[in-house]
Amino acid sequence: MKTIAILGLIMLLCSGFTGIAAADDSMNMAGAVQDAMDTLGVTNETPGLCVLTDAGYAKVNGETTQGCIETIRKETGCSIGDGNLLPIHRSVNKPLWFAIFDNATKDCVYAVYKNGVFTATEINIAEENVTTGDGWNATKKALGADAFTIACIANAWGYGAPYDFLKCAEIHNHLCPGLTSGYLIVDYIRENYPLGPGESYTWIGCPNWCKEDAIQVLLDLTPGKKGMVVKQRSKELFVKEKPLAGILIIWNDTAKSGRGVAFQYDWGKMCNLSDTNLTDFKPPGGKTNPLFWTVRIKGSLGFIPYINQSDMFVSLASDEFAVTSEQLDRVKMVGVDPYVELGLEEPTEVRGDFNGDGKVTSADALILLQVAVGKITL
Ligand SMILES: [Zn+2]
Repeated sequence: MKTIAILGLIMLLCSGFTGIAAADDSMNMAGAVQDAMDTLGVTNETPGLCVLTDAGYAKVNGETTQGCIETIRKETGCSIGDGNLLPIHRSVNKPLWFAIFDNATKDCVYAVYKNGVFTATEINIAEENVTTGDGWNATKKALGADAFTIACIANAWGYGAPYDFLKCAEIHNHLCPGLTSGYLIVDYIRENYPLGPGESYTWIGCPNWCKEDAIQVLLDLTPGKKGMVVKQRSKELFVKEKPLAGILIIWNDTAKSGRGVAFQYDWGKMCNLSDTNLTDFKPPGGKTNPLFWTVRIKGSLGFIPYINQSDMFVSLASDEFAVTSEQLDRVKMVGVDPYVELGLEEPTEVRGDFNGDGKVTSADALILLQVAVGKITL
């Protein structure tokens, strides 16, 4: 009886330990990776290979997929440690996929697991291809919803983008000029505002854009831990050459006082250096227009040579100012404009905003109507 119980326990433990490998085997992950390598004409000895995958985030038949990362490492020779196996963050609701990129030819094989099988496609994703309208459409057709992710991140890796920059792209699951601006802002902060004893950062991303994800990754400032507050402010972001980017507060918990400074970001200079036009970022037709994507890829890749020159793009939008604990609490609250709260801008009155909610709505029209019929006075 005892022996049976022990045997049962051993079997249970073994099935637990091999559960991931079994799921991996049933998908024939190794076979799919090998097929992709054969299509590319490469082996695990070929230099200049990079693999992107959402394994570890995606689930297959209710099982997590981290075992696939190990299979990819074994079959391709690419590893997280060597910086050429990039786990791309995705929702658990998305299918499992991997893409093998050969930097020598810029060929890429993309395989996605759906309905119990891997389906693979090969496409050349050289920058000169994916940044033309036709080239983008072909890439989109081959790689579907993962086209932008793979085209920009694989090429950035091929151009020698720094590893911590690629870490930001992994979480953001694409690379774009907005994310780049966040990387540069962090570089500027670390250079000019290093933390002293007892100090910590709070970042107020206002207006928020893709940069916040880079700041979150690099400085571990997250909304959940309240080190980051994001607030939208201006809808005219991409038509402004040098918009406000956010406010850094350095809080000293020993002295119970803080200091802050506001930043702006030079989109205009970024466009000049990457040979892109600011207006192309919002083309007619939006995301249905290939230009929406091609300008972002061009802007991101054209920027890599300047990635360590934050001084060229990031500048201060204010002098350093003192921050009280009450102000630190208030700037995080709903309905508070942090620039006004910290004395950096005058409050703006919205014409026609009678109820003071900062916008003109039907509620304001109703108030005006009541004034007209003499029911109330303003
Ligand atoms: Zn982005």
